[in-house]
Amino acid sequence: MQTSSVTVRSILTRSAGFLKTVCSHSLQPYRGCPFGLSLCGVGCYVRHNAWITRQRPWGSFLEVKQNAAEVYRATAARERRWARANRGGFSIFLASSTEPFPPQESRLGITRSVLEAMLDEPPDALIVQTHSPRVVEALPLLKCLAAVCAVRCHISIESDLDRLPGLPRPAATVADRFSAAQALKQAGLEVVITVAPLLPINDPERFFARVAQAAHAVVLDHFIGGDGSEQGTRTRKTALPAAMAATEPASVELEYRHAMARVAERYLPGRVATHIDGFAGRFENSPSC
Ligand code: SF4
Repeated sequence: MQTSSVTVRSILTRSAGFLKTVCSHSLQPYRGCPFGLSLCGVGCYVRHNAWITRQRPWGSFLEVKQNAAEVYRATAARERRWARANRGGFSIFLASSTEPFPPQESRLGITRSVLEAMLDEPPDALIVQTHSPRVVEALPLLKCLAAVCAVRCHISIESDLDRLPGLPRPAATVADRFSAAQALKQAGLEVVITVAPLLPINDPERFFARVAQAAHAVVLDHFIGGDGSEQGTRTRKTALPAAMAATEPASVELEYRHAMARVAERYLPGRVATHIDGFAGRFENSPSC
């Protein structure tokens, strides 16, 4: 892992593409991701982003945006004005192309410094998207933020399995991520489990019962339709579909997402959504089968 320190001129990126209906801005405290060599990194759409990778293997580099909080403080008021005028509110997605709570965060505190800056310059809404149980280290800050803006914590748990044949382990176990979700929920934060991309689920009834205990809602997204390419062609170039098919042949078809959404709906009635609607917190058409 090549770790380097960088300074940036901007930290709030006006959302475009699929994120446009989810938030007004995205914010990446780091560039690159140490989880890139773990299970989620195999199907991670960011690995295909040449502007970010600059020909470096995904999972091999981490650029630390040292002045992220300072730049946030300097630009938040301007971006808030723009977002309220153009997007109906200043909402931040943290983060769409990196992990905001990598192991390095405990030492470096870049995400923590940005959250502290948000207490001074709050957005209207904050969506935290993470694969990492280390999010609980930020729990006190997130609770303070929830007093001044809407906060929603998305925890990625794509399956009840910790291994798929031939693929690396996840960066954090399923059990640890459920525990983190439970801790956030018990602390009074809104928690959504993002099953994205949906991987084979060994015991769907038990899995979604567990989701209903640990979270307020669930989002399901399949690599078909969910990886930013037509028919999941990006993901089909990776080892993920073969490993999924070896575990559960039906899981490589979009119908699998519909079937899992129907199970989820029994445990979280009205709190199941798929694809972008779920990331945006739109559950009114639950489940979208
Ligand atoms: S944690 Fe997120 S950004 Fe990092 S490799 Fe996994 S899916 Fe990609």
